[in-house]
Amino acid sequence: MSWLILANAVLPLPVKVVNLTVCPGANSFIRLPIHSPTVFIEPRVGNGREAPHRGWIEVVAGSMFSGKTEELIRRLNRAKIARQRVEIFKPALDTRYHEHDVVSHNATSIRSTPVQLPEEMLLLASGCDVVGIDEAQFFDDSLVDVCNQLANQGTRVIVAGLDMDYMGKPFGPMPALMAVAEFVTKVNAVCVCCGEVAAYSFRIAASEAQVLLGETDSYEARCRPCFQAGMQEKAPASTSAGARHER
Ligand code: ADP
Ligand code: MG
Repeated sequence: MSWLILANAVLPLPVKVVNLTVCPGANSFIRLPIHSPTVFIEPRVGNGREAPHRGWIEVVAGSMFSGKTEELIRRLNRAKIARQRVEIFKPALDTRYHEHDVVSHNATSIRSTPVQLPEEMLLLASGCDVVGIDEAQFFDDSLVDVCNQLANQGTRVIVAGLDMDYMGKPFGPMPALMAVAEFVTKVNAVCVCCGEVAAYSFRIAASEAQVLLGETDSYEARCRPCFQAGMQEKAPASTSAGARHER
């Protein structure tokens, strides 16, 4: 039971279950939510230097503010502790917080290399054990091939990105990446309207461009009903159907 409480404290957001074993007695104390919170544990491949040269792809997907970057940084820091050679990339266009660093909304950060095109990663990541990529949705579809190539060469690839855009539509290469990945973790935020689990990034700014760099001034994490209510409000007045989902 204490392990679960610890997991809740460390990860207040629902995270897909991976490698979870629960004490049978735990259910008598805790009502497990639909998405049992847990942490991703790296698969252990082989044994030290004699390990077979194996790579794979992990995807961390979710809405804005869902903890994707925090989770990416957590995994990369663990790889660094394990003395693995780590390279981190982000799209050059994302300079919201810092020109070079990948920075979470909670102000955790890690050094990264901004790149214009996914192909640049193949050269820059040569000889790496682990490659981290943040804001993957901003890259074009060639990212899928690049991630596959890196994984085929024996690199562990960890990709974080928005699975849906501000319209609730699949975003860039993320759906294809989720298809080819060995491990997919869906993280959710908290709906700022009603406090329920939020899987959508609702744009409060007026722009209709698919890519609009922004923070809480431009976006809100919302649950499905609050997202739909907001989208209806944005639609012409005749189809408007109320403001927010009340809990
Ligand atoms: P992402 O990369 O998914 O946008 P980050 O990892 O950068 O998210 O930031 C997650 C942090 O954002 C949380 O730990 C929390 O401190 C903060 N946060 C702000 N708004 C929300 C929200 N609506 N739901 C959950 N966390 C939020
Ligand atoms: Mg992020």
